[in-house]
Amino acid sequence: MKEKILVTGAGGFIGHHMVRFLKKKGYWVRGVDIKYPQYSPVDEADEFLLLDLRELQNCLIATVGIDKVYNFGANMGGMAFVTNVKAEVMRDSALININMAEACRINKVKRIFFSSSACVYPEYKQLETEVIPLKESDAYPAEPDTAYGWEKLFSEQLYTNFQSDYGLQVRIARFHNIYGPEGTYQGGRQKAPADICRQVALAGSKDKIQLVNDGKQTRSFCYVEDCVEGTYLLMNSNYSKPLNIGSDRLVTINEMVDMVCKIANKKLGKEYHPGPQGVRGRNADLTLCKKVLKWEPRMSLEKGLEKTYKWIDNELTKNHVAKGKLQAYK
Ligand code: NAD
Repeated sequence: MKEKILVTGAGGFIGHHMVRFLKKKGYWVRGVDIKYPQYSPVDEADEFLLLDLRELQNCLIATVGIDKVYNFGANMGGMAFVTNVKAEVMRDSALININMAEACRINKVKRIFFSSSACVYPEYKQLETEVIPLKESDAYPAEPDTAYGWEKLFSEQLYTNFQSDYGLQVRIARFHNIYGPEGTYQGGRQKAPADICRQVALAGSKDKIQLVNDGKQTRSFCYVEDCVEGTYLLMNSNYSKPLNIGSDRLVTINEMVDMVCKIANKKLGKEYHPGPQGVRGRNADLTLCKKVLKWEPRMSLEKGLEKTYKWIDNELTKNHVAKGKLQAYK
C-alpha cells in the first residue's frame, strides 16, 4: 500500500501540480484548500476538501489518516501584493502553519513538508543586481525585506522545534520564483513571469509593456514541474534543514520581457513606473541542493516561458478577452 498524502493549497498553483505529480506516482492524495483548483479538474485528487486551515479543527479533519503532508497553503501573491498586504499575510499563514504543525502532532502524521521561500534571505545581501547567489546559511542574521519573508522564517523555526520536541519529521524548501502554466496571471496576486506573459499576449504593436522601477532588477526562475520533482525528492530524503529549490540562472526583468516578446513574435517597447520591486537582485546557490538531492532543475527558461506564454495566451482566447490593446497599468 502506498502512503496517504495530504496536499494543502491544492487549489493553488504549486499545490495542484504536486497533486498531479503524486497521482502519477500512484499515491492516494487528499487535496485541501479554501477554493477549488481554478485551472485543473478537482478530481485529479482522490478527495478534495474545502477547509479553512487557519482553524485547528479543520487541520485535524484534513490530517485524519494521513502519512505525509505537503503544506503549500498560504496567503500570498507577487511582490505588489505582499508589499501592500502585510498583517493579513503574516496572520493567515502563521495560523495555518501553527495549526497544521499541531494537527500533525495530534494525528501522528509522520512527516510534513513546508514550502518556505527565498524571501527569508536578508535584504542587506540583495542590494545589487549582480548579487552573490544565496546559500542556506545566509538567512542569518535575519533581515527579510517583507512581512511574508518574516512569517516564513518564523514557520521554519516552528516546524524545526516541532521536530526536536515532538519527533514530527520536517522537510523545508526555500523556493526561488516558481513559474509555469496553470497559475494566477491576473487580478493582483500574479508574479512577474505570468504578468509579463499576460501583458505581451494582450499587447498591440503600439503598446508598451508596463514595468516597475527600471526593469534592471534581477531574479532566477524555476519551472513548476522541476519544483515539484525537487520537492518530492526532498520530502523523501533524510535532509531536515532548509534547502534552496530553484534555478541559478540570473536574468533581469527587462531580459525576461525580451524573451517573452521573442516567443510571441512581437516587437514591443517598455514603460517604467515607480512601485515595489522587492530586493534589487536575488539568485540561488544550489550547491547544497545538488549535493543533497543529486538533482537540479532541467527546464530552460526559454522553453518554460514558451509553455507559460502559450497557456496564458490560450486562456485569454478561451475567455474571449479582447487582444491588441493592453489595459491601463494597475
Ligand atoms: P498559491 O497562492 O497559488 O497557493 C496557495 C494556496 O493556499 C491557495 O490556493 C490558497 O487558496 C490557499 N490558502 C490560502 N489560505 C488558506 C487557508 N486559510 N486555508 C486553506 N488554504 C488556504 O501560491 P503558490 O505559488 O502555489 O505557492 C505555494 C506555496 O509555496 C506557498 O506557501 C508559497 O508561500 C510558497 N512559495 C511559492 C513561491 C512561488 O514562486 N510561487 C516562491 C516561494 C514560496
